[in-house]
Amino acid sequence: MSRLELRGIAKRYGAVDALAGADLTVPSGALLAVLGPSGCGKTTLLRCVAGFERLDAGEIAVDGRTVAGPGVHTPPERRHIVIVPQEGALFPHLSVRDNVGYGLSREERRSDRVEEVLTLVGLSGYGDRMPHHLSGGQQQRVAVARALAPRPSVILLDEPFSALDAALRTELRRDVRAALRADGATGILVTHDQGEALSVADQVAVMREGRVLQSGPAVEVYRAPADAWVAAFVGEAVFLRAGNGVRPVTGGTALSTALGPITVAELPGGTGDLTVMVRPEQIRVTTASAGPAVTATAIGHDFHGHDATVTLHLADGTRITARVPGHAVPVTVGATVGVQVEGVCRAWRDRA
Ligand code: ATP
Repeated sequence: MSRLELRGIAKRYGAVDALAGADLTVPSGALLAVLGPSGCGKTTLLRCVAGFERLDAGEIAVDGRTVAGPGVHTPPERRHIVIVPQEGALFPHLSVRDNVGYGLSREERRSDRVEEVLTLVGLSGYGDRMPHHLSGGQQQRVAVARALAPRPSVILLDEPFSALDAALRTELRRDVRAALRADGATGILVTHDQGEALSVADQVAVMREGRVLQSGPAVEVYRAPADAWVAAFVGEAVFLRAGNGVRPVTGGTALSTALGPITVAELPGGTGDLTVMVRPEQIRVTTASAGPAVTATAIGHDFHGHDATVTLHLADGTRITARVPGHAVPVTVGATVGVQVEGVCRAWRDRA
């Protein structure tokens, strides 16, 4: 178990600032998912941590020991940090056992360690198989076992599930997380998939243009995003202007909006206009006959199975999307419905 700290790390390729002063801490034994749009520097960050790239500025420390920084560049083979790439890159001519034992000393290979990590990834008894006799998902499991075998300080996973179909992805990421936990490994998972990041990781970091905009527990990043960009990147978001009707309520402050009063936990200071962010699943859609305070016109309904999205037109002309359970009675397009926001929301002020 190791704690990883990145302080202001920068990496430039020609005119491109791939990393422009990224800060990040991964607590010991945690799995942190890095999310961000294509080209924001996720892979470069992993390559710098692994030691395949030299930093232009900043510092990387493992358990307080600097492995990269001014005048320091510990080579990759001495960092005890491993990368699992998108496609596991197993040695095709070696058995599963020999692939997993590849980086181990002769003594470790003779110990139970290989079988132990194969069991962790759900492949107990597969040691004699050759890689081409395994499915894509099983090959990725072997790649993870091979990475875990030497008990690295940190394990880096670069979109390791992206080539797999949806059902297999879900199963594999759950098992890989369990394997990392059982082995006490500290990990960074790079993914394009917001759902994957929020569901699998203890911590989520959101990157943009070479910087980490926010990192923290998945629930915190989703519910209390640092800004509107992060809010929209990690999930669907509805943004509403708030009026001047501010009043204290239990659990925060109520703001008046086109969706009725909305509670925010923290009222931002300053004097600029207020924008409130609501997640679509916080918007409850009821029948108009229930006598709701706020009504809207349903202008669309998309059924997704587990849930459905309802597009609504508010009285002030704002168009919003609500997410309702899949088992709810479908709203009729054109009908007037009641709307109400549940739970606590997030607000920002425009710069005055
Ligand atoms: P993706 O999600 O598409 O894989 P990413 O977030 O992993 O993207 P990086 O691959 O780290 O992004 O790239 C960050 C920026 O650095 C991009 O603009 C990319 O074109 C540039 N870049 C990365 N590697 C190199 C290189 N070896 N030479 C030149 N430019 C590079």
